[in-house]
Amino acid sequence: MQRVITARETGRVVCRSCSLVAPAKQMRCARCNEWLQSRDALSQQKVWAWLIVGLIAYIPANLYAMLRTTQSFRTTESTIVGGVVDLVHHGAYAVAIIVFVASIVIPVGKFIVIAYLAILTTRRHRTDPHRLLLLHEVVEFIGRWSMIDVFVVAILTALVQFDVLATINPGIAAVCFALSVVFTMLAAQSFDSRQIWDRLEGKSNHE
Ligand SMILES: [Zn+2]
Repeated sequence: MQRVITARETGRVVCRSCSLVAPAKQMRCARCNEWLQSRDALSQQKVWAWLIVGLIAYIPANLYAMLRTTQSFRTTESTIVGGVVDLVHHGAYAVAIIVFVASIVIPVGKFIVIAYLAILTTRRHRTDPHRLLLLHEVVEFIGRWSMIDVFVVAILTALVQFDVLATINPGIAAVCFALSVVFTMLAAQSFDSRQIWDRLEGKSNHE
C-alpha cells in the first residue's frame, strides 16, 4: 500500500466545508469563512454524547405504543415490536418487514456501527481504513432516510387496500423515535472521519 501523506503532516489543514487547503495555523477558511480544524478534538466526546442520548430516546420509543392497527373496526395500539407481531398475525408481511427493518434493524445497526467506529479510532488498529470510511458514509447516508418507516407506513396504507390498517400513533413513542433518529444523525456527523487515518498502524510503513 502506498504511503499516504495527510494534510496535517505537511503543515496544512483542509476546509471540511469547501475542501480548500490552508496553512495549519489559519483559523478560518479564506473562501467560505468556515472554522478550520486539523482534527476536531472534541469529536469523540460529541459522538458519544449524541449516541447516548440517541440510545436513551430509543428506549421509550419502544416501550410506548407506536403503531395503531385497525381490523374490523377494532383498533389496537401496540409498541414497535408488538406492532410487527400484530401485522404478521394479520398477514400484512410486507408492512411488517418494512416496519421491522426501518424501526429496529436500521437504528440498532447504526448504534453499533457508530460505537464501533468511535472505539476503533481511539486505539491503534489495522482495520482497512477504506472499509471504515465506507461504514461511516453508509451511516450518514441512511441517516437522511431514517424517517422512512413513518412515511412508508403512511404511503403503503394509502396505496394498498389491506383489510388491516396500520398507522403511526402520534404519541410519545413517535416523538422519541424521531428524537433518537436526529441524535444518531448528529452522532454520525460529529464523527471526524480523518481520525480513521491517524491511528492506522503499520500499513503505511511497509509499502
Ligand atoms: Zn472553506
